[in-house]
Amino acid sequence: MSLASDFVQGFQLENAPIRGRLVRLGPVLDEILTRHAYPLPVAQLLAETVALTAALAAALKYEGVFTLQTRGDGPVRMMVADVSSDGKIRATAQFDAALVEQIAGAGWTGVALLGKGHLAFTVDQGGDTERYQGLVELRGKNLSECVQYYFQQSEQLPTALMVGAEQQDGHWRAGALMVQKMPTAQKGIPANDDDADGWDHARAVTATCSLAELLGGDVTAPGLIYRLFHEFGVRVFDPTAFAFQCRCSRERVETVLKSMSWDDVQHMKIDGVVTATCDFCSTSYRFDDADLSLIVSDT
Ligand SMILES: [Zn+2]
Repeated sequence: MSLASDFVQGFQLENAPIRGRLVRLGPVLDEILTRHAYPLPVAQLLAETVALTAALAAALKYEGVFTLQTRGDGPVRMMVADVSSDGKIRATAQFDAALVEQIAGAGWTGVALLGKGHLAFTVDQGGDTERYQGLVELRGKNLSECVQYYFQQSEQLPTALMVGAEQQDGHWRAGALMVQKMPTAQKGIPANDDDADGWDHARAVTATCSLAELLGGDVTAPGLIYRLFHEFGVRVFDPTAFAFQCRCSRERVETVLKSMSWDDVQHMKIDGVVTATCDFCSTSYRFDDADLSLIVSDT
């Protein structure tokens, strides 16, 4: 893991009930995006989705996998990014290449590529634990507005968010800054008085963060947090790193094949073998008749 490049840095404002986190991603995005031939506008959108996923996951206490997914009727039918509680991150997108080209050629990019649809947040802690899922309509001029709309609708947790991604010299970089008002009211401050607890000001400051600042440029993460929020007093926590890692395996594919009938599996054969390719990392798993006879029951 490269802490210098792919990480989230959490922080807390000292004089306001506000916490935040700054995500910066680099090499992990190259790993994710170069495994597919994504058109530029799709890669851009997916890079932003990965940065948002990293920022949202860092706000949760969970052991397992956090997933952010979009589904829509636009040229980018689906995007999914997930991150495990130990910082392993992956993502993929399904899209119609011809439609993307057509719509992007007409100047429509960003969330316009998603069309009408929804954004889903899932926390899966495995075992018998209940899966948490939040769902909201895709609404906003960009992905961060869509996520803010979710918080407005479902969590009533005031959230300010900036996200951006860019390809520079053949390498992707993305950043996300997320600031949230903590739910507890402080002594003597009415819970809903935004001005009194500095929320309006913190939100306005967040909105001034430029793309260059988000991505890194000439300022370190703690340096940027201090630059933006110094008047509140800032406490910065230790950063945590992200790395690309897929969770697919030959065993998982075998489990799926095991649940199928011999006939169904035979129909999946191309040139005598069944090939399953992972949507996330593009690894192909091949099964010939000898493999299949050990896995699939022929009765
Ligand atoms: Zn995989």
